[in-house]
Amino acid sequence: MSRFDIAVIGTGPAGLEAAITAKVRNKNVLLLGSTNLSPKVEKAHTVQNYLGLPQVSGEDMQKAFSRHLESMDIVITQDRINTVYAMGSYFALQGHAGMYEADSVILACGMSAAKPFPGELENLGRGVSYCATCDGALYKGKSALVIGYSAEEEKEADFLAEMADEVIYIPMYSRETSLNEKVRVLSGVNPVSIEKKDKRVILSLKERNIETDGIFILRESVAPSQLVPGLELEKNRVVVDRKQKTNIPGLFACGDITGEPYQYIKAAGEGNVAALSAVSYLAEMKAAQAQK
Ligand SMILES: Cc1cc2nc3c(=O)[nH]c(=O)nc-3n(C[C@H](O)[C@H](O)[C@H](O)COP(=O)(O)OP(=O)(O)OC[C@H]3O[C@@H](n4cnc5c(N)ncnc54)[C@H](O)[C@@H]3O)c2cc1C
Repeated sequence: MSRFDIAVIGTGPAGLEAAITAKVRNKNVLLLGSTNLSPKVEKAHTVQNYLGLPQVSGEDMQKAFSRHLESMDIVITQDRINTVYAMGSYFALQGHAGMYEADSVILACGMSAAKPFPGELENLGRGVSYCATCDGALYKGKSALVIGYSAEEEKEADFLAEMADEVIYIPMYSRETSLNEKVRVLSGVNPVSIEKKDKRVILSLKERNIETDGIFILRESVAPSQLVPGLELEKNRVVVDRKQKTNIPGLFACGDITGEPYQYIKAAGEGNVAALSAVSYLAEMKAAQAQK
């Protein structure tokens, strides 16, 4: 089995930028993920805040990213990694399609949506969103519904209320809510499924249905602890320092997996830093081995 210098897990902006930077630094890179890149890129309606690509649709952004990879001969290995094992001086990666080895690893897996509702993924970017600060502007003068899994999400609902005409908030927790008076709180109800009807989305509750223009599902991320045993986490986000180092030597993390803000440019920037840190790590390893 050939061993790579750097394995990058994830093909969103974080992973792509990490792979590009590693390639610029002449490293042998394994980029694992999907040739469709990221659903969070593909499904974005209009992106207004990515440098150099004003008012770009997610689809066009995806094409621009793919062209960039092609221009640098970076190939994506289509696979999903189940587990990353730290073996001491290298890492073993277990994927659906096989095993891989690399001297260093960059986690750029994004924030996974846990247990999606039926109809949720199909309508992501078509009335369903995971990010009020990203998509809120699309609901100016419209109605929106927020399903919040922790009190921290209340500020997102308040933010939406600044733009939308009507905001309903469904807390999926028992703590008392504290929201802008414009937000209507619907406690003690049970969301079941989501469907799209014409330009509206319908949330089916056990109790009744609610029709709205957009549904925001704000969950805490799934623990990446399943992916890397022993990885230090804080509220399900991977703990990193300013060099994107995790608690495991040779393992770096970037993008949504390291926590808020969930933004393309932040993800790409962290990908750049993670790759440069991985390059430094490899140089240190090489120097240490030469001294033995
Ligand atoms: C509809 C929508 C609109 C948005 N609009 C904006 C916007 O306008 N502006 C903005 O700045 N941000 C926006 N965002 C947020 C932005 O999409 C995210 O912050 C960004 O995509 C995070 O990039 P990432 O690379 O960290 O993760 P992701 O883009 O989520 O990419 C992670 C990748 O890793 C892959 N992956 C996960 N686990 C594995 C595994 N085990 N093995 C292999 N591959 C794996 C996934 O399939 C995915 O391809 C929007 C998000 C959505 C959903």
